[in-house]
Amino acid sequence: MFDYLIVGAGFAGSVLAERLARGSQCRVLVVDKRNHIGGNAYDCYDKHGLLIHKYGPHIFHTASADIFNYLSRFTEWRQYQHRVRACVDGRLVPIPINLETVNELYGLSLDGKGMKDYLASVAEKVAEVKTSEDVVVGSVGRELYEKFFRGYTRKQWGLDPSELDAQVTARVPVRYNRDDRYFLDSYQAMPARGFTHMFGNMLDHPNIKVLLNTDYREIINEIEYGELIFTGPIDEFFDCRFGKLPYRSLEFKHETHFKEVFQSAPVVNYPNDYAYTRITEFKYLTGQEHPFTSIVYEFPKAEGDPYYPIPRPDNAALYKKYHALAQETPGVHFVGRLATYRYYNMDQVVGQALTLYAKLAGAKRSEALATA
Ligand SMILES: Cc1cc2nc3c(=O)[nH]c(=O)nc-3n(C[C@H](O)[C@H](O)[C@H](O)COP(=O)(O)OP(=O)(O)OC[C@H]3O[C@@H](n4cnc5c(N)ncnc54)[C@H](O)[C@@H]3O)c2cc1C
Repeated sequence: MFDYLIVGAGFAGSVLAERLARGSQCRVLVVDKRNHIGGNAYDCYDKHGLLIHKYGPHIFHTASADIFNYLSRFTEWRQYQHRVRACVDGRLVPIPINLETVNELYGLSLDGKGMKDYLASVAEKVAEVKTSEDVVVGSVGRELYEKFFRGYTRKQWGLDPSELDAQVTARVPVRYNRDDRYFLDSYQAMPARGFTHMFGNMLDHPNIKVLLNTDYREIINEIEYGELIFTGPIDEFFDCRFGKLPYRSLEFKHETHFKEVFQSAPVVNYPNDYAYTRITEFKYLTGQEHPFTSIVYEFPKAEGDPYYPIPRPDNAALYKKYHALAQETPGVHFVGRLATYRYYNMDQVVGQALTLYAKLAGAKRSEALATA
């Protein structure tokens, strides 16, 4: 008899398994239909011995000391500040847009105040900000919108920014200095031995059993358990009875190159050319030294594994119907990005899982984080 059956061995499922087993001495069965733990954060060595992220680049960053300290129980870290360049007008320029980006593109030598004045002069004020296009054009003007955002968004979402909710680009990050770090969080680091190694340590407890290559529906009637924690797609849990929740998918094309370095930045975005959105070179992220290098191209697609919930009002309304049903389903807890139909970063999913654990354990979150 298990106290909990947990569907999904990603961040949501693994954090809950770890806390319930170590913090509350529960017996837990974790089931995943994939052949590995870690969910989308899974990393592995390719046939040349290069550490790659199977489902695209995952960079850990958080503002929360609690979340960073909690994960530090399972891994050492490699300090890493992420940097991205965009290929625009044949040049590789920093993104988010900063002083360097504007000066390089236009051959100017503005200072921070000059850049502020420049953007204020090109920004188009929109009476009511409704769409993603309104947000960007209202902040950096039409030309930078066309160069950096429009094509990228069309590829990423299969929709023009004028068809996407304003919340998709709630705020356009612009820097009036030369800070070219992609994230500004206080904690930015990569697990020193990779994400999968960290997940292995989380799940390494005598009270946790892990069953891979198994859809939970194959075993749910065969095993005895107390409550269910579900981190898969919420619509599938209810047999899509109100219709399918739309997702944007990705195809990843991994390549090894027989040279030490492929490109001059960890990630290069291609807003205007090619069918892919970006190329990531993993060695920058992992710090691995190797005579070869591995990269991944990301091709957005309509069909395939569910990656990004599509933020449109009709989809939010559909999700609400499933959410209402979930609240009327006793003994089942929905957590994580697929079960709550929302794009979350890894640290946010860890936070969500810790909050659910505190509720299940009847404890305050700070108490729920105590080791055992
Ligand atoms: C391309 C890409 C890049 C990203 N980059 C970053 C980044 O740089 N930084 C960051 O913080 N976040 C990033 N994220 C977000 C990050 O991937 C998520 O926050 C995190 O993986 C969510 O964890 P989860 O446990 O909710 O879901 P998942 O990791 O998806 O885990 C859910 C698991 O449930 C399993 N499952 C589903 N249905 C069933 C079933 N019927 N039976 C059994 N198992 C089932 C799935 O196989 C999966 O393993 C990125 C996401 C994508 C798509």
